[in-house]
Amino acid sequence: MASISILKGREKQIYQKGSQDFDMSCDKKSLAGSISQRACVFCGSRVVLYPIADALHLIHGPIGCASYTWDIRGSLSSGPQLHRMSFSTDLQERDIIFGGEKKLTNALDTLIDQYKPKAAFVYATCIVGLIGDDIDAICKKMSEEKGIPVLPVHSEGFKGTKKDGYKAACDAMANIVGTGSIKDISPLSINIMGEFNIAGEAWVIRDYYERMGLEVVSVFTGDGRVENIKRSHGAALNVVQCSGSMLHLAQHMQEKYGIPYIRVSYFGIEDMSKALYDVAEHFQDIDPEVLPRTQALVREEVKKIHPVLKQYKKKLHGKKAAIYVGGAFKAFSMIKALRTLGMDVVLAGSQTGTKEDYQVLKDMCDDGTVIVDDANPVELSKYSIEKKVSLFVGGVKERPMAFKLGIGFCDHNHERKLSLAGYSGMINFAREVYASVTSPVWQFAPQRNQ
Ligand code: SF4
Repeated sequence: MASISILKGREKQIYQKGSQDFDMSCDKKSLAGSISQRACVFCGSRVVLYPIADALHLIHGPIGCASYTWDIRGSLSSGPQLHRMSFSTDLQERDIIFGGEKKLTNALDTLIDQYKPKAAFVYATCIVGLIGDDIDAICKKMSEEKGIPVLPVHSEGFKGTKKDGYKAACDAMANIVGTGSIKDISPLSINIMGEFNIAGEAWVIRDYYERMGLEVVSVFTGDGRVENIKRSHGAALNVVQCSGSMLHLAQHMQEKYGIPYIRVSYFGIEDMSKALYDVAEHFQDIDPEVLPRTQALVREEVKKIHPVLKQYKKKLHGKKAAIYVGGAFKAFSMIKALRTLGMDVVLAGSQTGTKEDYQVLKDMCDDGTVIVDDANPVELSKYSIEKKVSLFVGGVKERPMAFKLGIGFCDHNHERKLSLAGYSGMINFAREVYASVTSPVWQFAPQRNQ
């Protein structure tokens, strides 16, 4: 595996710290012939909008696209479960020839009457882009007829990268923002953006902010509700996690409604605490008590988890880890969290990082660390073996690769069922890493015994 060479067109998307000049290429379409770990534009928009639990999500396309993304985020809802259905117009050969507009109109008509959603999102897939169905006109007409927002999501899969899907999702949501009443919203108020309530994480984060004395107007889009998004322009601050997916909407809200935003991460003790302190600082002039309240909260939470983490650190000290995640911001937090557990990161990469992100990543990493953009399974396998990693942190597509190589795995993507955010999440993370890395099963993996 170590002898496998890198595809010519991808050489500039891989960098090894200390052995070459830093000139990372990124933010471009995947190379044909390289099996990208990254999903399509449609998938990008679907993962962002999916957690809006009281909306109808209708995929206009062949059934495969709907099946591919069914229940794709482990986003929990405290109420409606409509988001967990994977509705599709199931376009067939006849529809491709004669057009699928009639089928889409009928599907919307039936589904809206039956499920009474607060809004409907209509996702355009590759084939719809090719046959040219006018989904904008159909959505407009259905919106007038049914009295709810029916929103086209321009997410034809071939149109760009997964990142373009995030933008299409933000554009669709921007049509709802600003349409609700902002009466009685506190001056100490925030929107939580880019927190998808995987395994209930948004509830943990929301609780922290409320203990600081803040009002949470809307969570984009974890346990999301259409009514809250409608009034989200009344919040005083947007707090953006997963900036790859939500920055576009945060910037739009800054321009249109004058709401400032800050970027945060809720993963690991260091970044979780920084997020809370940054938000507290923002409200310092309005309420000087926010900061002391935040300090007390952080003290209390860290005190609870510190002794447990110390135990895991002893057992994991010096083990090597590889990270391959969606957004680079997540990789930064992950490096810090793994260092908290005494581990060394020797491979770090992302699907959607920008030049600036990779510069930060390079500055954070130790010499010898390999940094990859939009990688494929061959590259990830090659460097995991070469660097002798004991742990791979990634998503559903990296899991089988790690297991086949006899490497411990931790799922940090949207399919996971374990809460990893906040202070309590750090304990879950440590437990999972420890269990996976030290599992006796790896002694039977042929790769590990070579
Ligand atoms: S690439 Fe096109 S056909 Fe494939 S899942 Fe994405 S939208 Fe559907």
